[in-house]
Amino acid sequence: MERTLSIIKPDATARNITGLINSMIEAAGLRIIAQRRIFLTQQQAEEFYAEHKDKSFFSGMIQQMISGPVVVQVLEGEDAIATYRKIMGSTNPAVAEEGTIRKTYALSIGQNSVHGSDSPEAARREISFFFNHTEIVG
Ligand code: ADP
Ligand code: MG
Repeated sequence: MERTLSIIKPDATARNITGLINSMIEAAGLRIIAQRRIFLTQQQAEEFYAEHKDKSFFSGMIQQMISGPVVVQVLEGEDAIATYRKIMGSTNPAVAEEGTIRKTYALSIGQNSVHGSDSPEAARREISFFFNHTEIVG
């Protein structure tokens, strides 16, 4: 069993498709064991995405992430990190695989509907960024 951190991004909450995305998560065998709808502050978004701070898209991406509510969630399952990355699809929805969340729902690379941790170290850091032990109910 493994855990990963998911974020349903503002482009998706704006279109009222958090339930549709949760259905795809559950259909893949992942369990949503913690979930909260919040507004990220700019400081939180910049800290969360600190690894990208030198990228050209950083400031636009931060503005996108604070443009509306997000749903932060902990997903649990077998190979949860890789399983979720697989059903998310490629960062750029134009080249994402058929049937993935991003192919189905993302609008563009900057409005790509979901985030998922990319390694066990990232998952640990990202889960503890948003949730404490009592909020995770596996
Ligand atoms: P992923 O979310 O697939 O792990 P990255 O970690 O590389 O992708 O990038 C983080 C987020 O930054 C992406 O999900 C996307 O929203 C945004 N992003 C990445 N590359 C670009 C780009 N070239 N132009 C605009 N936004 C981008
Ligand atoms: Mg990433």
